[in-house]
Amino acid sequence: MARFDALVVGAGPAGSTTARELAAAGARVLVVDRATFPRYKACGGGIPLRTERLLPFPIDSVVEDSVHLLDVSLRGRHRFVRDSGAPFAHMVMRDRFDALLLAHAQRAGAEFRPATTVRALDATGAIRIEGEGGFAAEAACLVCADGAHSPVGRMAGLGEGIAECAAWEVEVRAPEAALRRYRSRSLIDLGYNPWGYAWLFPKANVLSFGIVLPREQAGRMKDLVRAYTTRLGLRDAEVDIARGHKIRFRRAHEPIANDRVLLAGDSAGLADEFTEEGIAYAIQSGRLAARNILRVLGGEGSLRRYETDVDREIMPELRAARLIGFMFYGMLRRAPRPWMWASAHTPYVWDAFFAVQRGESTYEREAARVPLLPRLAARMLRE
Ligand SMILES: Cc1cc2nc3c(=O)[nH]c(=O)nc-3n(C[C@H](O)[C@H](O)[C@H](O)COP(=O)(O)OP(=O)(O)OC[C@H]3O[C@@H](n4cnc5c(N)ncnc54)[C@H](O)[C@@H]3O)c2cc1C
Repeated sequence: MARFDALVVGAGPAGSTTARELAAAGARVLVVDRATFPRYKACGGGIPLRTERLLPFPIDSVVEDSVHLLDVSLRGRHRFVRDSGAPFAHMVMRDRFDALLLAHAQRAGAEFRPATTVRALDATGAIRIEGEGGFAAEAACLVCADGAHSPVGRMAGLGEGIAECAAWEVEVRAPEAALRRYRSRSLIDLGYNPWGYAWLFPKANVLSFGIVLPREQAGRMKDLVRAYTTRLGLRDAEVDIARGHKIRFRRAHEPIANDRVLLAGDSAGLADEFTEEGIAYAIQSGRLAARNILRVLGGEGSLRRYETDVDREIMPELRAARLIGFMFYGMLRRAPRPWMWASAHTPYVWDAFFAVQRGESTYEREAARVPLLPRLAARMLRE
């Protein structure tokens, strides 16, 4: 049976980052994915500049557009546009972006086994995973970077109790005029109860758009997406893909590591509850995963310290984003029109948002400017 220092299940941003850093440090690492790459992932493909900065290589080859305009509306009305003056986010197609991250992991020395669904985990002795076609491999450590459904994380008994929401993505071949209309501009349409938003992100040859909602509202998703498609004037556009996927949110101390297994990225619920983004945290947690595995391979302690690292280095930002999100969506629910008016006429709100997106500030820093925020947000908790 093939033996490695570490096994990584899932070749998304979390898994590829872990594998790249481990291989670059000389570890023998195998990445396994049920898909053949490049593969589709339901996602807006919004890469804020702060996410790009986490990567030690350029992503220009996969950037489809860069946005500096934020076009905000309330179910199509009370619209205003903020110009950040310079790009705050790049737009990518996830198949090409993820393939680039994986190529860098392979270049660093990681082995990749595509089209292999991991079906069984035995962690009684060495870590052993098994999959289709008689595949089996062993290692000292396992990273479950297996996305929001995290089947392998569940086999390890990790990640239970993590909250989740529902999201939907549609990609359409839009006419040239529509592609031009949305160039350099991302749309955010608010006003979904009790929270959530619709979005449109431009790509070179397609437009992708969708909605994110609380899990309990998933049944309304298709009708709401249909209404949004009509509002965008894209009802007749040819649909390439339309698919739902969940996003998970770790809110407290849900277990994400034991002695030799850890969860990274969506599998650990590392997405923020204001914009519902997760790629930055997938990359960040992949780096923390690699750091901790290298420590364990060097004979120092267990992978439980990874959870402490995530609690210290990622959770404060996710907590701040959650407070901001609860406050923002809570105000919108209570007083939609005045809150839209106030947002449109308070430059600070969007300047702060752009600064966070560019990596010049953080949600934590912005939340600390409003000492009353925790109390305000607590009153507006969604659930
Ligand atoms: C509709 C939507 C829009 C979004 N928009 C954005 C956005 O614009 N910006 C942003 O930052 N975030 C966005 N997100 C979140 C983002 O997509 C995720 O946070 C990100 O993909 C997490 O990366 P990951 O590596 O943890 O998991 P994933 O990218 O989901 O990768 C997991 C991998 O595990 C593999 N896998 C799963 N099970 C098995 C198994 N049993 N055996 C082998 N392989 C397995 C899968 O094939 C997959 O390749 C969005 C999410 C959704 C649903």
